Amino acid sequence: LQAPSAAGLIWRVTRNDDPTSEAEREEILAAPGFGIHFTDHMVDLCWSEKGGWHRPQVEPYGPIALDPAAAVLHYSQEIFEGLKAYRHADGSIWTFRPDRNAARLQRSARRLALPELPTEYFIESLKQLIAVDGDWVTKKDEESLYLRPFMFAKEAFLGVRAAKKVAFYVIASPAGPYFPTGIAPVDIWLSTNYARAGKGGTGAAKTGGNYASSLLPQAEAYEKGCQQVLFLDGPYLEELGGMNVVLVTRDGRLITPASDSILEGVTVASILQLAKDRGLTVEQRKVTIDEWREGAASGEIVGAFACGTAAVLVPIGRLKSDDFEIVHDGPEATELAMSLRDELTGIQYGRVEDRHGWMLRL
Ligand code: PMP
Repeated sequence: LQAPSAAGLIWRVTRNDDPTSEAEREEILAAPGFGIHFTDHMVDLCWSEKGGWHRPQVEPYGPIALDPAAAVLHYSQEIFEGLKAYRHADGSIWTFRPDRNAARLQRSARRLALPELPTEYFIESLKQLIAVDGDWVTKKDEESLYLRPFMFAKEAFLGVRAAKKVAFYVIASPAGPYFPTGIAPVDIWLSTNYARAGKGGTGAAKTGGNYASSLLPQAEAYEKGCQQVLFLDGPYLEELGGMNVVLVTRDGRLITPASDSILEGVTVASILQLAKDRGLTVEQRKVTIDEWREGAASGEIVGAFACGTAAVLVPIGRLKSDDFEIVHDGPEATELAMSLRDELTGIQYGRVEDRHGWMLRL
């Protein structure tokens, strides 16, 4: 048991007595892939209607015992987050804007009728996990340790109502490049048969169901030779299965869809802030697919990119659909996108001054 932390929690830390050997870990870190390998420990916090948040623990990574009637298995009352831990040249370990992820988890919690986890507890969970599994944060540039906080309804009850017992965990997974193609332009499939979210739905929440419903359209994208799907809300652009989308105009404006049913990305907000800092114009507004099509045809829109924590930023080479194709093969937009990407990763890996105070030492 530890003394009460700044957030007032008393943590129990149980070390894994059979951790991954250093040799094995180095082998994993040499070629981590994405989301394949997991560290030796996990964070585990309970919530109950009566007791609130309690029993914070770091424990050996391993299977979770669930009652077969646990509500999450039936009604998908579940939310999650995704952020990364980065190692700087001096060996210190940092994360990027975790307050944003904590706030988004709270918004997701409200929509899914789950309890809100205070920001201090969220951040402390990350610190506790890194305190025992810090060796898993690679020294390699462009690679990191992906942190996956998640919360679900564990109460055994089949009535349809908000669960009175909830679990919060954090697991961690060494992360190499998200796309096997690295940062080469990706092709995107425009999903016209399926929608990701609608007005009043759960699109703005990071909840498993949104991702379950994206799998079939994602499979369709693979069949068409594309790596990701773009979803629409009627005529309006929304987002990709797991990334936000930004269009680039000839005169250097950046346009990203505004919508109540897309996930508020930390990456897109940061990229747009860096663009504003350079004096570029940023527009967050409704964008139709016709605007993109016509703009690409007239030369007004010179490119597009997708961004999110996992892949950071990748240029979009083509948008394909059954009826038409948009091709972006000019250099201007890609150069701008790549320079914003370099600036953002420069901040994350400690090579560029963090003038907005976005980094937090873990
Ligand atoms: N949209 C969706 C649907 C996502 O899953 C993600 C990844 N979290 C994003 C956008 C990008 O968000 P962020 O930049 O915070 O990773």
